[in-house]
Amino acid sequence: MVKIGQLFSSKSQSCPICGTGNSAKESRPIPLRHPVPRAILASLCKTCGENIPWIAYPACRVCGRAERCGDCARRTKRHYEASRCAVRYDGRMKDWLALYKYRGDEGLENALAAMLAFAYERLSDATGSAFQRITAVPLAPERLQDRGFNQAEKLARRLAEWYGLSYSPVLSRLRHTEKQSLKTRRSRITDMKGNFAAEAEALFSGSESPVRLLIVDDVYTTGSTLDECARVLREAAEGEGGIDIFGLMWARS
Ligand SMILES: [Zn+2]
Ligand SMILES: [Zn+2]
Repeated sequence: MVKIGQLFSSKSQSCPICGTGNSAKESRPIPLRHPVPRAILASLCKTCGENIPWIAYPACRVCGRAERCGDCARRTKRHYEASRCAVRYDGRMKDWLALYKYRGDEGLENALAAMLAFAYERLSDATGSAFQRITAVPLAPERLQDRGFNQAEKLARRLAEWYGLSYSPVLSRLRHTEKQSLKTRRSRITDMKGNFAAEAEALFSGSESPVRLLIVDDVYTTGSTLDECARVLREAAEGEGGIDIFGLMWARS
């Protein structure tokens, strides 16, 4: 839990991303309403703060890309409503994400989550009603073992805390061996690519239908991962209740 006061204590006078001393505070517009992520973005140094490639005006209404988008025009069937990304995945953002995956420290995590909050507030505004549930694209179990944490889940949990959403770990990623055995057993949770499984029951306890669910991931490339996740979730939700699925991505490549 981050208190606003802590962000401005003497210990946190350095930029949470690059560690540069941050004494000469200039006022720069912070594009967020929520005070906690606002304060986190304000604690970035001038260089880091000014170089965030925000996607403020998405040209693609579906995936939120800043440029017009062939991928979305070509896709005839989609299992999610829409998706938004906070920033363009440029060289600097690649470095920041790599640094966070490597260090896993709280300062960087807060900064990336505060950036994701930008996309969250805009998606809420664009869709006009509140979200109740949030989840994350799971890492491959082998990858999770190596890194020790799932960055998408960390960011999603931070948003859940700030905006009062309920985090539900409803997606899982199958190991290669599991995929093989599920294929032979023709399990209903296996999809064509067999990467993800979903458990939707928890989404419907204590919430109105349709459930509005956000799926968080760090980087959106083609949208196929998000679409796969949305597809298995819809399948799992059949007979449970209505579900509206939205994507929330930190960066758009
Ligand atoms: Zn900095
Ligand atoms: Zn698009």
